[in-house]
Parts: sequence; structure tokens; C-alpha cells
Amino acid sequence: DSETKCAQNVNIIEAKNSPTIFDRILDGSIKADIVYEDPECLAFRDVDPQAPKHLLVIPRRRITMLEDAQNTDQELLGHLMLVVKKVAEQEDLTDGYRVVINNGPDGGQSVYHLHIHLLGGRQLNWPPG
Ligand code: C5P
Repeated sequence: DSETKCAQNVNIIEAKNSPTIFDRILDGSIKADIVYEDPECLAFRDVDPQAPKHLLVIPRRRITMLEDAQNTDQELLGHLMLVVKKVAEQEDLTDGYRVVINNGPDGGQSVYHLHIHLLGGRQLNWPPG
């Protein structure tokens, strides 16, 4: 109902204005299993893997969610996608893989720092839940 929607919007505003756990991975205060890094982004293993291989690629500069990306982010977004491809090769995902961005509450986004999921190492189902 509209009250729930309203509460959800308040939570999102709060989430967008607060630091996330990924800031702490980026500044090194939380240890992550980093598999790739460059000046623009970082790739590390998801702590709660949903497939034999589950990695996250994140930009160092925070974009809260895909819907907040701007035209000026075009190059960065393209770069992230090519890094996903590179990490997939590095992880030997030769039989295929899936690339996912969860956006907002209905998308199941829980961390409000844009991240691309890379999943593989088993046959994935479609549609996702
Ligand atoms: O798309 P969503 O926001 O739900 O994804 C967040 C992901 O970040 C989850 O898959 C979660 O397991 C992962 N995570 C992590 N390390 C943390 C906190 C969350 O890999 N310290």
C-alpha cells in the first residue's frame, strides 16, 4: 500500500546518504577476496555466493544505483562491463556465466553502491526468483 511505499522511499533516501560496506572494502578496513583492481574499479568474491563462482565488480567512485547513473558515467559503465568479461576469463568461466545488476527494492538491491554480479560455475535457471 502507499504507506509501505512511503516507508520504502524513506529507507532508500537514508541508504543513499549513508556510507556502505563497500566503502570499507575500498578503503581496506574490511578484508575482501579481491581478484582484480585498477584505478577505476575493484572485483572481489561475494561473501554469500549464490553459485560456485560469484563475484562483484564495483566502481571506486560511488554511483548509488543504476537508475542514478548519468550520461557522464558512460565510459565508467562500459569499463565495468569489460572488467566483468576479463574477470570471467580469469575465473575460467568458459561454459558461460550471468551478469546481473539489482536496482532498488523490487530488484532486490541491498547495498546502495552500484555493483555488477558475475555468477557462474553451474547451470543457472531462468527466470530468476
Ligand atoms: O544486489 P545486492 O545489493 O543484493 O547485492 C549485494 C551483495 O553484496 C550480496 O550478494 C552480498 O552477499 C554481497 N556482500 C559482500 N560482502 C559484504 C556485504 C555484502 O559480498 N561485506
